[in-house]
Amino acid sequence: MLEFQFMGTGNAGGVPLWGCHCPACDLARRDPTQRRQSASAVIRTNDGVSLLDAGITELADHFSFEEMERVLLTHFHMDHVQGLFPLRWAECERKIPVYRPDDPVGADDLYKHPGVFEFLPPCDPFREIDFGDFCVTPLPLIHSRVTQGFLIRKGNWRLAYLTDTVGLPDRTLAYLQANQPDELVLDCSEPPRDTPPRNHNDLNSALSIWHETGPRRLWLTHISHRLDTWLQQGGSLPEGVFVAHDGLTLSPGHDA
Ligand SMILES: [Zn+2]
Ligand SMILES: [Zn+2]
Ligand SMILES: [Zn+2]
Repeated sequence: MLEFQFMGTGNAGGVPLWGCHCPACDLARRDPTQRRQSASAVIRTNDGVSLLDAGITELADHFSFEEMERVLLTHFHMDHVQGLFPLRWAECERKIPVYRPDDPVGADDLYKHPGVFEFLPPCDPFREIDFGDFCVTPLPLIHSRVTQGFLIRKGNWRLAYLTDTVGLPDRTLAYLQANQPDELVLDCSEPPRDTPPRNHNDLNSALSIWHETGPRRLWLTHISHRLDTWLQQGGSLPEGVFVAHDGLTLSPGHDA
C-alpha cells in the first residue's frame, strides 16, 4: 500500500492571501475547499508516514509521533519547514530522521536545536534511497536556496515531486527522461507570463517541463492566488494537466 496525499498546494502566502480581495482569495474565504496551505505532501504506507516538507503549522493535529517515520525536505525556506519548529520539543526518546539538501545554513536554529529531529548528512543527488516499502531519488532543482525534488518509486510506478523550481537542471531533466514518472507534480506558482518568474515556474515553463519529460499526468502545485484567479476567469489547461488541491490523493494504479 502506498498513498501520496497533497497536504498543501499553495505558495508561501497561501490562498486566501491575507489582505487580498482578488476573486480567488474572496472565493477561498467563502469556500474552505478552495483554500491552499503551504506546499507539502505526505506518503502513507503500512509502515507509517513520511512527510514531504513541513510547511503546515499544525502538523501535530494531523499525525501522531508514533506513526511519523521520517521527513524529506526539499529546501529550507520557511514555507517548507515552519511546521518542524513546535514538533521538535516532543517528549520522546526516538529520533525522527530528516533527509535534507546540502544547505549548511538550514533555517533559524533548527540545526542547533533539532530536538527530536535528526538532520542526516545531505542527500546525494541521483542516488536512490530504499525505505523498504518505497524508494526516493533526490533530484537537484533550480531555486534561490539549495533545493531538491524527489522521484518516488514503488515497483514500476513513479511520481516526481518537484517544488520549488524554475525550469530544471540538465542532469535532472536527463534523469527524468531515462526514468519517466507516471505522475509529475510540479511547481507552477504563476499563470502564463512573457518572462517566467525568477524562482518559480509559470504555466508556460511548467508545460515545457511536462512535454520534455513526458509523464501521463501533470499536477500543478505551489499555486498563487494569481494562478487561481486566472483559472477562475477562464484560463484553460491542456488535457492531462490538473490543478492539485489540498487533500487530493494519488496512488499506484488508481486515477485520482
Ligand atoms: Zn515555497
Ligand atoms: Zn488574492
Ligand atoms: Zn522556496
